[in-house]
Amino acid sequence: MAVVTIENLSKIYAGTAKDSARPKAIDDISFDVQDKEFMVIVGPSGCGKSTLLRMIAGLEEIDGGTLSIDGKRMNELSPRDRDIAMVFQNYALYPHMTVYDNMAFGLKLKHFSKRDIKERVMQTAKLLEIEDELYRKPKTLSGGQRQRVAIGRAIIRRPKVFLFDEPLSNLDAKLRSQMRIELQKLHREINATMIYVTHDQTEAMTLGNRIAVLNKGKLMQLDTPLQLYNFPANKFVAGFIGSPAMNFIKGILGKDSNDFFLERSLDCKISLGTDVPTSIQSKVGQEIEIGIRPENIVLSTYQHYKPAGCLLEVMAFENMGNEQLIYLFLQNEKIIARRNSQEIIEIGSRFFIELGAGNIFYTETFDR
Ligand code: ADP
Repeated sequence: MAVVTIENLSKIYAGTAKDSARPKAIDDISFDVQDKEFMVIVGPSGCGKSTLLRMIAGLEEIDGGTLSIDGKRMNELSPRDRDIAMVFQNYALYPHMTVYDNMAFGLKLKHFSKRDIKERVMQTAKLLEIEDELYRKPKTLSGGQRQRVAIGRAIIRRPKVFLFDEPLSNLDAKLRSQMRIELQKLHREINATMIYVTHDQTEAMTLGNRIAVLNKGKLMQLDTPLQLYNFPANKFVAGFIGSPAMNFIKGILGKDSNDFFLERSLDCKISLGTDVPTSIQSKVGQEIEIGIRPENIVLSTYQHYKPAGCLLEVMAFENMGNEQLIYLFLQNEKIIARRNSQEIIEIGSRFFIELGAGNIFYTETFDR
């Protein structure tokens, strides 16, 4: 059993001026990680993810708030006494030791018997499929194998909580996606509480039971991957979760009998349909901003508002075989649409933009 409770955690690095724009690297963050949960902490570079993880590990002092594991305060305990194992991006293996010795090292320090060590090393190596590499040195291994050894070294100790700091960043794309699947499997098999830091929202979406999204030291939203995707709490999360990112389009809200539209200029009106949130309906005549995901943009040859339909011009596309991403200009703004890969789209061709009514986000309704 291992519940990690983070209450009002704050961190101010020495030398950071109190009057600087962002004095706190971690700013009053609170959340719980449930027993056996796979929690991902995600956010752009510099948002404070590693600092938060290092505070949990005991590698960084806590300047405010409380960190507890199973209700026991951890703030003052040394990393060794927290029953936590951490896996780093750069593997941090001992280069002069074999894979076997790297994995056995922590157990030797804890005075495990030779027999017990061997049993655990073999069991862990089997779990991670590195049985054939046990007597090799780290420098002779591939990146993926080294990362497995680093993970093995952590799980062999059977700690209460595992912390991962961008462990897949040094691997190539194919290996990364393979390791993502293996980490999910590993999580099921060892049934432990895991906290995983990454800047990559795809990794966050595919690995996390829940995801904590950070920006500038603050917690933006914490929820399951699908809830974050479907119900972002603010514009930051709306724009950060999803790849390619959500498109944002500004314009003046207009109304034409029961139909609402977004007017960007006299010759560019986008229909919003009748299904507009009540709080937005009162903004007719004012500037609003809508968000629309690439898969919800319909490229149409039908002009809804004659002669004021908004024309989009194709400037580039990327066909991946299973889908294609179309890069278009809406006046001066770049819009990305996701389309079926079999459609023939030509650079320079023009379409009218249509939006499915149920798929429009209104950024004014965010910050719930
Ligand atoms: P992330 O892991 O999300 O990239 P970090 O936790 O490394 O972000 O950093 C968060 C903020 O704290 C950044 O503004 C960074 O410059 C600052 N920071 C990180 N480590 C130190 C340090 N040792 N001393 C001073 N500032 C630091």
